[in-house]
Amino acid sequence: MRIPEHGMVSSRARDRMIREQLLSQGINDPRVLAVMRETLRHLFVEEALASRAYGDENLPIGEGQTLSQPYTVARMSQALNLTGPEEVLEIGTGSGYQTAILSKLCHKVYTIERLPTLADTARKRLRRLGFHNVVCRQGDGSLGWPEERQFDRVIITAGTPITPSSLIRQLAPNGVLVAPEGTLSVQNLIRITRLADGNIHQETLEPCCFVPLVGAQGWKDDSP
Ligand code: SAH
Repeated sequence: MRIPEHGMVSSRARDRMIREQLLSQGINDPRVLAVMRETLRHLFVEEALASRAYGDENLPIGEGQTLSQPYTVARMSQALNLTGPEEVLEIGTGSGYQTAILSKLCHKVYTIERLPTLADTARKRLRRLGFHNVVCRQGDGSLGWPEERQFDRVIITAGTPITPSSLIRQLAPNGVLVAPEGTLSVQNLIRITRLADGNIHQETLEPCCFVPLVGAQGWKDDSP
């Protein structure tokens, strides 16, 4: 079934999403609220799921992976404290929705996805929708970005038993990393800040639930 009048329907749905899911749960960064308001989330899921795109739920994106509920995307984006000039490394491109949100909040996003079909779909989608300040790659992001370099922000959008040291190494001084750390079934959102003197400061923000980070410095790949 085609969803009629996408524009109107989704504009109202996004207003409601902002009110009932974000403002009501402590999302108060005006830039995060503005990009969540203007970004068309229904274009990041298959058409059959478009009518559910602004609800308070995770959505399947294929290959057993999920797009997090709007609140989680907003919470992680807000936790990164983006002001505009930053370069951000994202592990777990998935649908590309979180990538799109980040790309409007910072200077450039470098994103890496393990599964080739998802990486390919997200790359094409982001290009088609005009998100040009994004560099997409396929590979194991638990090992960090393949080139030796540092980023102002790092976000891991898959659950990890422990934050990979390669990603902490790629965090620039005064940089901030946000990641779901814990078991396969439940994690805590943690925020790591690299202080100007090089030391690491870690905070626990709140419980969350993500699909696993699978890789050399994540969970083992037990697929056949
Ligand atoms: N942020 C995404 C959803 C994330 S789901 C969105 O907005 O849609 C988590 C994603 O992380 C999945 O697509 C999964 O394949 C990917 N992933 C898991 N382990 C990974 C790894 N080691 N490197 C890169 N991506 C990984």
